Amino acid sequence: MATTDYQIFFTKNLLDWHAGHHRPMPWKGERNPYLVWLSEIILQQTRVEQGLPYFERFKMAYPTVTDLANAPEDEVMKLWEGLGYYSRARNLHATAKHIANELNGIFPATYEGLRSLKGVGDYTAAAIASFAYDLPHAVVDGNVYRVLSRYFGIATPIDTTEGKKLFAALAQGLLEIADCGLRIAEGPNPQSAIVNPQYNQAIMDFGASQCTPAAPRCHSCPLQAHCEAFKQKKTAELPVKSKKLERRQRFFNYLIINWKGQVFIKKRSEKDIWQNLYDFPLIETDALQEGRLFLTKNKTCQTWLGESDWRLLRASPPQRQELTHQRIVATFWELEVLDNFSTKEKNWVAVEREKLANFAFPKVIDLYIKQKFLPLELF
Ligand code: SF4
Repeated sequence: MATTDYQIFFTKNLLDWHAGHHRPMPWKGERNPYLVWLSEIILQQTRVEQGLPYFERFKMAYPTVTDLANAPEDEVMKLWEGLGYYSRARNLHATAKHIANELNGIFPATYEGLRSLKGVGDYTAAAIASFAYDLPHAVVDGNVYRVLSRYFGIATPIDTTEGKKLFAALAQGLLEIADCGLRIAEGPNPQSAIVNPQYNQAIMDFGASQCTPAAPRCHSCPLQAHCEAFKQKKTAELPVKSKKLERRQRFFNYLIINWKGQVFIKKRSEKDIWQNLYDFPLIETDALQEGRLFLTKNKTCQTWLGESDWRLLRASPPQRQELTHQRIVATFWELEVLDNFSTKEKNWVAVEREKLANFAFPKVIDLYIKQKFLPLELF
């Protein structure tokens, strides 16, 4: 078959498959660009099952972009808590403010206009452009890379400029073939501006449920007859990435300082992970610390605790959280200080233990609070 025949086979069978495998989701068929944008930001790097309740929660709390723009930042971060990649929440809020205040609450209606929004990359701009406005832009996300690299047997690494260009052009060509098929099906008077509204959704759903990363369902696959990866037994090798993911390991020591029934927390303002979330006073070290000697020898700890009387209540076993490029190993040191304690740390806030639930914390801290942070009398 000529290359174009493979492409026609691909689009036709993909669309037929989609017609019989419709996965209803609250954002599917949505035409409101605000809700399409909201769903796409929530679903970045997130499984559908995990993102779904967050989408419902945000939609309920902020029915319009202006409602989101007017919400306090701490409230938005709290609603986002547990979803990870918190820069998405900060960008979401900043973009809502920009649209509400600078663009009169109206979303841009072009790919370029959408792409210029904070937190909106090529994929998200294409998704909003096609789902909300029927504009002919092919989406290229992880699912699309996987399906295309396998079906066409392309080993060009997807994380290189060359790979990105190649897959974007291929995806766009396939979208145009799908559009063309729609025009032919429409008969002699096609609406030439229309794009096939199913195509982008079809390829993403196909990657999510049929051509999955670890165990693709090749034996029930409608593309199998011409799939290069299947023919060459290379499904496990495709797609190719050039860089191996390396995670930097960081050791966080959180001091939970109990003082008059309260503990100290602080907002993370530095340019680092978890910006604008809350955490406890933190001492980062080069290695895992064990034993109370760490508290008595560490200079920062000495400065914080000063001359006050304190005692160690407990130290947690190391708690881990994996981020894309970092592995956080956190130890929670629970201390009690006597009434003569005072602090010069301006950004520390004393909060009653039962009110901690009102603040947004990183996952590793949130889990610790929920599972291990028992009332003191239980120790
Ligand atoms: S045959 Fe297997 S690898 Fe090829 S597209 Fe289908 S599910 Fe993916």
